[in-house]
Amino acid sequence: AHFLDRIERFDGELNSFITVTAEQALAEADAADAALAAGNAGPLTGLPLAHKDLFCTDGVRTSCASRMLDNFAAPYDAEVVARLRRAGMVCLGKTNMDEFAMGSSNETSFYGPVKNPWDLSRVPGGSSGGSAAAVAAGLAPVATASDTGGSIRQPAALTGLTGFKPSYGRVSRWGMVAFASSLDQAGILARSAEDCALLLGAMAGHDDRDATSVARPVDDYRAALSTPLAGLRVGVPEEFFPAQLDAGIAEVTRAALAQLEQLGATLVPVRLPSIDLSVAAYYVIAPAEASSNLARFDGVRYGYRCDNPRDIEDLFKRSRSEAFGDEVKRRILVGTYALSHGYYDAYYLQAQRVRRQIANEFNAALAEVDVLVGPTTPDVAFPLGARTDDPVTLYMADMFTIGANLAGLPALSMPAGLHQGLPVGVQVIGRPFEEGRILNLAHQFQ
Ligand code: GLN
Repeated sequence: AHFLDRIERFDGELNSFITVTAEQALAEADAADAALAAGNAGPLTGLPLAHKDLFCTDGVRTSCASRMLDNFAAPYDAEVVARLRRAGMVCLGKTNMDEFAMGSSNETSFYGPVKNPWDLSRVPGGSSGGSAAAVAAGLAPVATASDTGGSIRQPAALTGLTGFKPSYGRVSRWGMVAFASSLDQAGILARSAEDCALLLGAMAGHDDRDATSVARPVDDYRAALSTPLAGLRVGVPEEFFPAQLDAGIAEVTRAALAQLEQLGATLVPVRLPSIDLSVAAYYVIAPAEASSNLARFDGVRYGYRCDNPRDIEDLFKRSRSEAFGDEVKRRILVGTYALSHGYYDAYYLQAQRVRRQIANEFNAALAEVDVLVGPTTPDVAFPLGARTDDPVTLYMADMFTIGANLAGLPALSMPAGLHQGLPVGVQVIGRPFEEGRILNLAHQFQ
């Protein structure tokens, strides 16, 4: 009731929720009370959360912030949703996002932009901007999110939260609407690394219905939090501090590194020579996969359908033209072009080679050190509307985060200080399936 009341009071302005499931939430809270009274409650029983609106929720609208799915109520729960439900968590509703998770500012939503609670004239970051704003404003204690190229870590940085993206394969993607399947991973926006550890323990694990989910055992992430950092080798990639990096961001990041040193870590300079190609490679691979994934939205089986189609081709064309926004159309066009005969080798195959090269460089660096640390974003939250006409500048917001997705590595952003009165995030990247280690670092840092 406390959180529903805050949503009622503040979300008219913030726009962080697309759907609020108040009645259902109160009923779930009653069930949690009963479980507590009966003595069979777990650590998450009764704790409220919000789900990014790309996780399917049984009987509740799952829109992906698109007109295409505005009328779509999923007939089943995503695996992540089901696991957190079984853990006793209470769902408050579904959060706003960039349309189909394409964006870094949460301005491409069919339901309008989300505002940053720190400064209502600025973006909260994207694509998980609704989840970030809701948690930052205290409308939900924690929220699920997804990260294809930075969509958990970038909004975490811009709203002063801890945002956690697990290794590719750690969490099931079943029931999470696909954007770029080889990069997508479900994760968490929270107020602390400890909250992330608690949720990850419940979310992670193998799922037969996602062939890319791994069968490794799930670690005790909470137990790992208290390990002292003495002896930890922290790699500092030179390429994460380019000359044009905002001086305030650089200063906060350097101060965080100094604090890690004080906590007993050793700083080691490392190189990621090809990292400056990551944005270019990503913006071929992600649109290519998106163009294929979004082919299913044809106006036939579910989703938006245009009025009075003349024939089947008219149905496809008008349904898609009327229901997809500009950024989604841009990605479909770019992706289809990159995959087409005659261009495939020059764009898609070349981007895959670059991806492999970047992954090899990460693995080489992480053979020398335990984790990599650098800034999460090149600047603080920018004004709403400042980059809407300039997609390439917006794409650069993810220059430090995309690498971890290309290489499938676990990564988080933790709040490290303020610059111009706005939050700055520091990013920690770990070896595959060493999520416990990066959560440990963030917990000790806080
Ligand atoms: N900003 C990136 C994009 O627009 C990443 C989005 C994401 O991680 N979902 O594709």
